[in-house]
Amino acid sequence: MAIFDKDYEQMERKYLLQLQLERLQATLHRAYKNVKFYKKKFDGLGFLPEDCQSLEDLARLPFTTRHHLAQSYPYEMFAVPLREVVRIHSSTGSPGAPIVMGYTARDLRTWAKLAARILTAAGVDRDDVVQVTLSYGLLTSAFGLHYGVELLGASVIPTGPGGTARQVQIMRDYRTTVLASTPSYSLVLADKMEEMGVEAKDLHLKVALLAGEPWTEAQRREIESRLYLTAIDHYALSEAMGPGVAGECEQRQGMHLNEDHFLPEVIDPKSGATLPPGELGELVLTTITKEAAPLVRFRTGDLVRLDYAPCPCGRTSVRLSRIQGRSDEVVIVKGINIFPARLGQILAGLQEGEPLYQLVIGREGHLDYLEVRLEVREDLFFDKMTVQRELLLKITRKLEQGIGVTPRVKLVEPGSISREKETSPLVIDLRT
Ligand SMILES: [Zn+2]
Repeated sequence: MAIFDKDYEQMERKYLLQLQLERLQATLHRAYKNVKFYKKKFDGLGFLPEDCQSLEDLARLPFTTRHHLAQSYPYEMFAVPLREVVRIHSSTGSPGAPIVMGYTARDLRTWAKLAARILTAAGVDRDDVVQVTLSYGLLTSAFGLHYGVELLGASVIPTGPGGTARQVQIMRDYRTTVLASTPSYSLVLADKMEEMGVEAKDLHLKVALLAGEPWTEAQRREIESRLYLTAIDHYALSEAMGPGVAGECEQRQGMHLNEDHFLPEVIDPKSGATLPPGELGELVLTTITKEAAPLVRFRTGDLVRLDYAPCPCGRTSVRLSRIQGRSDEVVIVKGINIFPARLGQILAGLQEGEPLYQLVIGREGHLDYLEVRLEVREDLFFDKMTVQRELLLKITRKLEQGIGVTPRVKLVEPGSISREKETSPLVIDLRT
């Protein structure tokens, strides 16, 4: 399989670490000199950019959060004068003010290159026809991939979102080979094909490049079997750049992070402490080449693991696990961080389809308990008690192994847990 930027994507780690340090030092200098927010933060600590002598020194600096970015609305985080900014994107900004992202001409060239890396890793080449059904607007998703496709020399069809019947028509008539969309929209397309009597296997699709929302391996299997293609996960963090931050290679065992541009850390979302590689925690990224709006220790809110093991594809960069949920959903039970989404993954491995479950956390005396309510099919309640007991035991054991706390598992009938978050929240904490 091809690699777009061999010099960097296969760089030996000792050279990569050196490059990262040089780029980090330059970034800290720029941020300190040009962004009031960082000057104030660094001064508060008595930290000067030249105090950064190793990559470990980064951990001495405070985090940047979405809240900080929203407070800096619109241009306070820019490290260059507005006349050097050639593109402006923004997020929808819920809750609070939108977050504004600026790009210099060089930032845009970097962005296209990194998107081309992600596309190449996904198996896209210049013979492909890429249909981008993402939003062309203030959001970063479509434009990021768009210019990556063009740089790669493949053809791009900028359909944008919506008009699903027309999307299917274009896909068939223009012989689209690559679909860029969200996981959920790829299934909307599959539904529409069925409705229109278009057979996915008669189309030319080979790859779907999916991001923009959390998704599971079960969804991947469904998308692949219904659309007759390979579904590839990538990580498009708009505050850091947009698509091009990280993406899966053909091994599909984690997303290669473009480490020569983004420095990763994984932290305990509650304490902020840096976690060793392999531990599940919140991803923190520092941009080390971005000119217009550099970010120092940006808390992404996404829960991941980092995998530094060599990948058979030949890329030397660290891999991010599939995003395992959001750190603002973390709850502490008996002093242990519990990630509700991680529970969902374990439950998904035990049954067919997406599990419908709910966590109830309470306290008896001084001890916390965790109850997991799981919807099961109705006929189970008519089965022998031994069948029910065995299932309960199996689920309890699996969860215990996965999260480190023994939960009380309660099987409930279909319809007990609503799919609407408002009526059935994922977590009910009775302790507060
Ligand atoms: Zn790989």
